[in-house]
Amino acid sequence: MIEVVSQVEGMDVFKILKETGSIMKGHFKLTSGYHSDYYLQCARLLQHPDITSKLAKIAWDLMGKEINIKKISTIVSPAIGGILWGYMLSYIAGCRMIFAERKNEKMELRRGFELKGGEEIIVAEDVVTTGGSVKEVIDICEGYGARIRAVVSIVDRSENLEFKYPYYYLVKLNIDKYKPSECKLCKEKYPLEYPGSKKNI
Ligand SMILES: [Zn+2]
Repeated sequence: MIEVVSQVEGMDVFKILKETGSIMKGHFKLTSGYHSDYYLQCARLLQHPDITSKLAKIAWDLMGKEINIKKISTIVSPAIGGILWGYMLSYIAGCRMIFAERKNEKMELRRGFELKGGEEIIVAEDVVTTGGSVKEVIDICEGYGARIRAVVSIVDRSENLEFKYPYYYLVKLNIDKYKPSECKLCKEKYPLEYPGSKKNI
């Protein structure tokens, strides 16, 4: 089952996720080992810059009601999922955008990217589930002495996760997951798909 818990006023973001094929229905094995009847692939939405730019504008205005977004000089995203979302936000904001990526399991700024002490920034991720990558990016930014004003995602799939900083999202989804032994679709012998990059069979 999939449940829309909340979303921004004035735009049906869940409908957009459905229309762009970002929410797939089937029988999926997640990287966690659990099974699910729905799978979210936000990249399918992000392949459309026209739609993504509308969402970025809404997210930017949403944050602007509570924080001084005019002072934001950089958007920082974890690779890969957050890059397109962060890039579109930075385009709307008129600021720069950089991303952190993993090398030997550790998230870091590479490619000559850096932050200045005191610089005001926003951390952007497309989908927050465990929040692990976002927390690592927060640590990196704090290490440079940057001032994090907000974390922003398109979708919040977490179980009411909180960051040290104000967290904004456009839609909050609950997608049920099942232990393989308790999965109805397994009992019906429905073929299992492996949507992630790692098969983990
Ligand atoms: Zn199953």
